[in-house]
Formats: sequence, C-alpha cells, structure tokens
Amino acid sequence: MSEHLMQTYGRQPIAFTHGEGVWLYDENGDKYLDAVAGVAVVGLGHGHPVLAKALCEQASRVIHTSNLYRIPKQEELADRLCGLSGMDRVFFCNSGAEANEAAIKLARLHGHNKGIDNPAIVVMEKSFHGRTLATLSATGSRKVQAGFEPLVGGFVRVPFGDADAVAKLAEHHNNIVAVLVEPYQGEGGVQIPQADYLDRLRAICDGNGWLLMLDEVQTGIGRTGKWFAFQHSNCLPDVMSLAKGLGSGVPIGACLARGAAAEVFTPGKHGSTFGGNPFACTAALTTLSVMAAEDIPGNAASIGTFIRDTLKRELGQVPGVREVRGQGMIIGVELDRPCGELVKMALAEKLLINVTSDNVVRLIPPLVMNREEAALLTDKLAALIWAFLN
Ligand SMILES: *Cc1c(COP(=O)(O)O)cnc(C)c1O
Repeated sequence: MSEHLMQTYGRQPIAFTHGEGVWLYDENGDKYLDAVAGVAVVGLGHGHPVLAKALCEQASRVIHTSNLYRIPKQEELADRLCGLSGMDRVFFCNSGAEANEAAIKLARLHGHNKGIDNPAIVVMEKSFHGRTLATLSATGSRKVQAGFEPLVGGFVRVPFGDADAVAKLAEHHNNIVAVLVEPYQGEGGVQIPQADYLDRLRAICDGNGWLLMLDEVQTGIGRTGKWFAFQHSNCLPDVMSLAKGLGSGVPIGACLARGAAAEVFTPGKHGSTFGGNPFACTAALTTLSVMAAEDIPGNAASIGTFIRDTLKRELGQVPGVREVRGQGMIIGVELDRPCGELVKMALAEKLLINVTSDNVVRLIPPLVMNREEAALLTDKLAALIWAFLN
C-alpha cells in the first residue's frame, strides 16, 4: 500500500477492478457478492450499461461549465427531484456533508431573517451528518468529534426516536429554528423509530415555527423501498438533503427545500464550483430514469422484506442475535457483542458486508438485487453469523 495516502481509513487489503450488477471482481478475477454497494451508493449496481453510455456521451460533449451559466441538465434534475418529492427548490453540491452544510446554513439564515441572532438546531444522539466541522458538530458520536474541538455551536441534542424530548425543548429554548434528523439512522446502527415519529416531529415543528430538516443522504433514492424515507410517513419536510444514491457513484449532493424555506437563499448566500455540473447531473438523471422505468424502489421493498424475513427466520432464535431490523434495503442485524471481525470472515467467503456502531451488521446492497442473489446473501450471512457466535 502506498506510503503517500493519509491514514484516514482502515481499509481491507483488496481492490476491485470491475463489476456487474451485485457482483464485484478483484485483481485475481475472484467474484464477490456486494452487500455494501459502495456504502449505499450504487443502487443500480456496478457496470450499468445505460449509465455508462449516458456518462460517456456527456463526457465527450461537456463535463463542466460552472454555475456562472445556466445548466439545462441541472434544471431538468431539479424539476425531476421536486416532482418525485413534493419539494420546491434544489441546491446542488457534491456530497452528503455539503448537502447538510447547506441545510444548516439555510436554517441559520432563516433564523436570522426572523430576528433570532443565535439560532439553534435540534439534532439527535447516534446521528451521522458528515465530517466537515459543522456536520461533525451536528453528528451524535464522540468518536467523530474527538480531537476537533472547538466544535461548531448552535446544536441541541436529544435521544433519537423520542418526539416528546423534542417537544419539551420548546419550553426552555426560544432560539430553536429547526430539527435535523435522519428518518432511519444508518451509521448509528440501522435505528428504526416508531412509525409515527416523523409525523409527530412535523406537528411539533409546525406548532413552534421550526423547520423539519431530513437527512436522507443514506435513506433517499429508493433505499428504503420508496423514493424517500419520509414517504413512509404522512408528512413533508421543509428541507431534505440527498447524496449517496443520487449519482450512482458520480459525486453529487442536493439540498431540497419547500415553501418559505425554499426562498431563504438569495444570490451570494451559498455556492459551489462543481455543484450540479452537467456530468454529475447526467449521472443523477440517468439513475432516476432507470429506477423509475424498472421500479427499483419497489424491488428494494420486496427484496428487502425477503432478506429481513429470511434472516429473522434463520437467526431470530440464535443466542447472541439481538434483533434483525430495517426498511427496504437498509437492514441491520444487531448482535450482543462487537462484530467487526465478521467483515474479514465474510471477505474470505467472497461476501462484502459492513459493520457499523460496533455490533450491527449493516446490509445496504445494490437495489437491483434479485431473489436468487438475496437468497445467496442470506444463506452466506446466516452461516457466518452462526460461526462467529459459536
Ligand atoms: C454518508 C452520510 C453523510 C455524509 O455523506 P458524505 O458524502 O460522506 O459527506 C451524511 N448523512 C448521512 C445520513 C449519511 O449516511
């Protein structure tokens, strides 16, 4: 391994040369079943021919022109995302952290416009919002924050899934402007709140004039079996951030807003050199059209249910397995002990999985996975977890 990379990652000693669908091939030509999808990024799977063709064509025409000019693909993508979500306007950037930075800036500016000069944003324990200073300050993990103090201020933290705790804040704080929350926590160990959680947060925000801001960086773009996770509830957010699945691996992030929140940013208040360039927007537009044409969110719902049901059947009664949970194709298997070792064990069995929050196996496969591949995944994983616990 090169001595010239900063040591920010604990990498597995393997590199992949190419892929097809849910399969990745290493330098020896060995084939791996991918249940990570580049961390919930490649929903369409690897080597998708329609995406490859669209990107080649766009690359040979024009890749980047800057936001000094109109970008028709960016306009088309904004229209499509608003059509799918019910939001009104979009700001494009290049990552999840940047999409959340835009949301945080928007909320603060909204506060200042209302005369609140020390605006605060409610955030959750165990949340993950990114690695920039503002987003790591919003993140509910000491591991992410340690060593980077002083943190960015203006965040108030409550337990995830506890709407009453959010409601109580209104009694003691008069400077809250927004609630920032993941509909389902991903990095936090695939945490699924009560079904009415978002609706209750919506009501609290409406009652207090706060913005409801959803971090759908991981849960958006079909991952949970709907286009967006909030579509499992009965409400709309004021702000929503997207990234991971949006460009199928070509970096793109988006901050969407609705109603008054959509009018907060005015020229000069925010920007990005790369954000929403023709190449990245082509990746996102193609991702959305292939997903719509093949009802890939629907596939994520049914195959995700199959994976969960199968794992519950095979592991539900196994001592050491605490819970199998998830929504669509974000699935967690929580064990009663740290299980990072499972990643290596799976690799030896030609299976790619992820462990998050120390003791939760997280499955976030390509959304195009079929029944046969899902059965192979559950067979392999159940055997591995059984072997690990015994
Ligand atoms: C991955 C993730 C982010 C950060 O995205 P980056 O593209 O790595 O900056 C933010 N929020 C959530 C919920 C995520 O899962």
